[in-house]
Amino acid sequence: MYKITVIPGDGIGPEVMKAALAVLEASNVEFEYVTARAGNECFKRTGTTIPDETISTAKKTDATLFGAVTTVPGQKSGIITLRRALELYVNLRPVKSYEGTQSLFDDVNFVIVRENTEGLYSGIEEDTEDGATALRVITRNASERICRFAFEYARKTSKKKVTAVHKANVLKKTDGIFKEAFYRVGSDYPEIKMEDFYVDAAAMYLVTRPQDFDVIVTTNLFGDILSDEGAGLVGGLGLIASANVGEKNGLFEPVHGSAPDIAGKGIANPSAMIFSACMMLDYLEEYEEARKLEKAMKDVLKEGKIVTPDLGGSASTMEMADEVKRKFKALNM
Ligand code: ATP
Repeated sequence: MYKITVIPGDGIGPEVMKAALAVLEASNVEFEYVTARAGNECFKRTGTTIPDETISTAKKTDATLFGAVTTVPGQKSGIITLRRALELYVNLRPVKSYEGTQSLFDDVNFVIVRENTEGLYSGIEEDTEDGATALRVITRNASERICRFAFEYARKTSKKKVTAVHKANVLKKTDGIFKEAFYRVGSDYPEIKMEDFYVDAAAMYLVTRPQDFDVIVTTNLFGDILSDEGAGLVGGLGLIASANVGEKNGLFEPVHGSAPDIAGKGIANPSAMIFSACMMLDYLEEYEEARKLEKAMKDVLKEGKIVTPDLGGSASTMEMADEVKRKFKALNM
């Protein structure tokens, strides 16, 4: 029995969360859920976008499922605060093409491992006489930690190659440290091929030959940009899941936001949230369950009959989720 913090959030967050939890009912693994608040609705009620109680609950449970929140300009971002508080130093984003969905390529399957705590997102900015400067912080420790995660992930998932993405020709010191850390850590994994590209070249290769990538490891800003490029290569926002992982905690969330334009209509695509639940199963080392859930999702997408309007169907969020649940249950019999 795993204890899971559930943060439905705002907009379509609660709708896709309800769908994913319904699907998990068909699992052989048991879960106990603790619901916690975050986001704009929470702000209206409590005066904060992320109560301390939510953070302490997430710290205590085995994993966190996060729907989506609306962040109003000027408000503290609930999700960024939570990622920091839980020290989730990895952002993991699988980029996969699924049969039956509109995708630029039909044979893409790689993962982006993005450093989540430093780089240009260190939050250190200063006014200067004529503008401002932002500090790009790269440390040996954080570089080694993220590279080790990437190689361990590659080993666990039988991926053959890890690619480092950087700009060490211009950012000689900072990305020099990152590149050195990559090759130093990689030497502990002789069975895994290593290569590195400048970020500009990597951005081009992602659209010319994305099939060549297995695992990409990179710094914060480059990872942010390449992750969205990856999302564009395959079926779009409604399908893409992500994980934020640290030494002690894991948080799993769809890449899409709260989509206020379709909230309350019951038509949100639940796939990204369900794939996020699938990543949670992997994190909990429930690999067999994760593969079954992934198969159920893949089959529903491939058949393309009971899918939401963004995928060309006319099913509601819960109708699609029920179909995934039915297939998942059948695999679990
Ligand atoms: P936020 O401010 O919370 O980021 P947003 O609308 O700016 O919200 P997204 O929520 O990512 O950003 O939505 C972008 C577009 O994609 C919207 O038109 C939305 O309707 C659509 N979209 C996002 N998620 C889904 C989904 N799960 N199913 C269907 N459409 C979606």
